[in-house]
Amino acid sequence: MDARHHDPDVDVDVLIAGAGPAGCAAAIACAAAGLRTVLAERLAGPAARPGEALHPGAESLLARLLPGGFADAVGARHTGITVGWGTEPRFEPYGQDESGPWRGFQVDRRRLDALLLDRARGAGAEVRLGCRVGEPVVEGGAVTGVRLGSAAPLRTRTVIDATGRARWLSRALGLTSPLRSPRLLIRYGYATGSCPRRDTAPEIAADRTGWTWTAQVSRGRYQWMRLDFVPEQARLRGGPPPDFAGLVPEGPARSADVSWRLCPKTAGPGWFVAGDAGVVLDPASSHGVLRALLSGWTAGSLAVGVAAQALGEGDAAGMYRRWLLDGAERDMAELSARYAQLGAHGFG
Ligand SMILES: Cc1cc2nc3c(=O)[nH]c(=O)nc-3n(C[C@H](O)[C@H](O)[C@H](O)COP(=O)(O)OP(=O)(O)OC[C@H]3O[C@@H](n4cnc5c(N)ncnc54)[C@H](O)[C@@H]3O)c2cc1C
Repeated sequence: MDARHHDPDVDVDVLIAGAGPAGCAAAIACAAAGLRTVLAERLAGPAARPGEALHPGAESLLARLLPGGFADAVGARHTGITVGWGTEPRFEPYGQDESGPWRGFQVDRRRLDALLLDRARGAGAEVRLGCRVGEPVVEGGAVTGVRLGSAAPLRTRTVIDATGRARWLSRALGLTSPLRSPRLLIRYGYATGSCPRRDTAPEIAADRTGWTWTAQVSRGRYQWMRLDFVPEQARLRGGPPPDFAGLVPEGPARSADVSWRLCPKTAGPGWFVAGDAGVVLDPASSHGVLRALLSGWTAGSLAVGVAAQALGEGDAAGMYRRWLLDGAERDMAELSARYAQLGAHGFG
């Protein structure tokens, strides 16, 4: 497949908005295949973000995206999670194979995002930091360009929206991303010190009011999250959970809207939507970063197929939409069944 045949009617082959895991994975796929790729990020560089607990399955994907390794970004490792789902907490291992137990891991998101960005640059992507993507150019129903600042629009064959919960492209195209849950506000924070109970495995403890997550992120550093099914309770609740009473909080508690959203149309002629821009579930699904990496990589690979004329635009968009929707619907069905066990409804 030759994706290096440059179309003279466009300035670049692919414009990717947002340099989180989804955008970087897309940029790596496109640039490594020889596409002229621009990755535009509104911030000046990778930022500290929540989203650090990764499933064992994320490791092989990251190894493929980052052949130079990513040990630098990895903190605590664990072979399972302690789960109390309306019951006494019990350790649930991830599983194992002949080489031993599978291990999940915590990542430092600023470092991981920086490694992914460096890899995108190394593969040949032009990275523009401090560059907020503006209006898309739409012609004959297809996205054909994007405004970056006051310059003339950049003409591009494919646009990939990886702007996370900002949902830049779907908002600009007037596409809805209906809520698939009650409004969910999560509170979270970090603390330092020693909590030996959390050093072997993270814990999620849930009851009919919501759930609390506590985990060691790296040696001597811990994270907590609390999600209440009724947002009014979230506003009333204070800081760290009792397990972390002896630790020193790292600044005030923070909050984020993690209401479930699913954009029914995540691809069309000349465009794809990847990562949180297309699908958001609350962190109990624990797949956010993995889905971002996988969907960014898949959108990028399909853009390569279209550029090499191995795939029609319509086919690529249809395949992507079905794949992303099926996976998201499955994750939503699974988590809403688990919430129903607690008596919490209105999900999925
Ligand atoms: C409290 C909390 C805890 C979480 N915990 C976990 C966890 O333990 N494990 C897990 O897997 N997931 C977790 N998640 C989810 C995870 O953080 C996200 O799913 C993941 O970061 C999504 O990646 P992304 O690349 O789609 O978006 P993001 O990481 O949000 O990146 C989007 C990027 O786009 C940029 N951008 C936005 N608008 C523009 C624009 N107009 N122009 C240019 N750039 C723009 C932003 O600055 C940002 O850099 C958690 C989320 C929250 C809120």
